[in-house]
Amino acid sequence: MGPYDVIVVGGGLAGLSVAHRLVGGGASTLLVDQGHVGRATDAGAGILSPETTWNPDESWFRLVQACGDFYPNFVEGLTEDTGWARCGLLALALADWDVDAWETTAELALTRQGRRPAAEPDRLREIDADDARARFPPLGPVTRALWHPTAARVDGRRLAAAVLASAPALDVLRQPVDEVLVDGSRVTGVRAANETISGGAVVIAGGAWSASFGRQLGVDLPVTPRRGQIVHLRLPGSDTGSWPIVQPVLGFYLVPWPDGRVAVGATVEPEAAFDARVTADGLHQLLREAARVAPGLRDAGFIEARVGLRPGSPDDQPVLGPVPGVAGAHLATGYGADGLLLSPYCGALVADGVLGRVPAMDLAPFGVGRFAAATGTLRPDG
Ligand SMILES: Cc1cc2nc3c(=O)[nH]c(=O)nc-3n(C[C@H](O)[C@H](O)[C@H](O)COP(=O)(O)OP(=O)(O)OC[C@H]3O[C@@H](n4cnc5c(N)ncnc54)[C@H](O)[C@@H]3O)c2cc1C
Repeated sequence: MGPYDVIVVGGGLAGLSVAHRLVGGGASTLLVDQGHVGRATDAGAGILSPETTWNPDESWFRLVQACGDFYPNFVEGLTEDTGWARCGLLALALADWDVDAWETTAELALTRQGRRPAAEPDRLREIDADDARARFPPLGPVTRALWHPTAARVDGRRLAAAVLASAPALDVLRQPVDEVLVDGSRVTGVRAANETISGGAVVIAGGAWSASFGRQLGVDLPVTPRRGQIVHLRLPGSDTGSWPIVQPVLGFYLVPWPDGRVAVGATVEPEAAFDARVTADGLHQLLREAARVAPGLRDAGFIEARVGLRPGSPDDQPVLGPVPGVAGAHLATGYGADGLLLSPYCGALVADGVLGRVPAMDLAPFGVGRFAAATGTLRPDG
């Protein structure tokens, strides 16, 4: 089969976003996806809120901010609806014991906002508890509330389907990739379904299952699964579409959708490894927390529980760009808990690198070489 200009391994939002940009740039592209149970894109809560991400690293913040700025035009350019909306977000302290954490989070967010033009109309600000409850009526006691008007939500499943539908020139193979083929110091394609498929470049976007490709490419790619369970409840007759996201600084978040649906998430269970099951303990934690944060949800109906394996990296930052020492090999993985936010823009950056363009942002801080540098296993040519 082939040859293709580029083969993308993995058809979650990370791989789809790379492939979408490649096809738009004129590259003949094949996306190969196994469709594992536990695909993170299908479980993602859909919170897009760069300003309230907790990571204090500045390269990280520049990246997530650019990711948030990229979204409106990206979804506008797709042929199907994705559920994207600027719904706003409430970052909350709910008692005395979480006020310190709230103050740290609020200070970081407000300091970062100070660097944006003062004339921007929608700025973060503290609001009182009554105002917070007016915006999200089921809430219980609130101690402190930060209102973040520009936060948005997106439906990961619909977004993935929309990205695929908007790239009709993309070839898709629903099979596992068994091996990335390397000849000397250059990739030549992949082996899938007992066939050799040749390609000039290969992008690894295998989510939580990416690490084995690192071994094949001779690099340390320490991406590991972090299981997340999330429940969807329904409050009939409520105007949930106008409600904001609720994010307690210490606790689970609530993400409302227009059809009476409120998602409550999410557990973080790295110890579960590749076990993509919904568990009794996970459900118990989620439902107990929903009732603590928003007692008005006690009467909500149960719709479904979802589970996904987030592709985590040791420093909670993505792994992007070329693989040192292996020409034509590129990475778009390690997106962790923020992959719905990161995927479209990071996918464009990685694809631009593959196409020989200079990416709009330097990917060096997110390169895979940082792990080798940390463990002293950098290849002489890397
Ligand atoms: C409960 C939960 C809540 C979340 N909430 C948010 C949120 O609010 N905001 C946010 O920004 N992010 C959120 N995330 C994170 C986000 O969903 C992920 O970071 C993102 O979806 C990762 O996308 P991905 O394409 O890298 O991985 P995945 O979606 O897991 O896709 C990887 C794909 O690669 C395929 N693959 C793997 N190996 C092979 C192979 N050998 N051959 C072929 N195909 C292969 C798999 O089958 C799979 O289809 C959440 C995640 C979870 C689990």
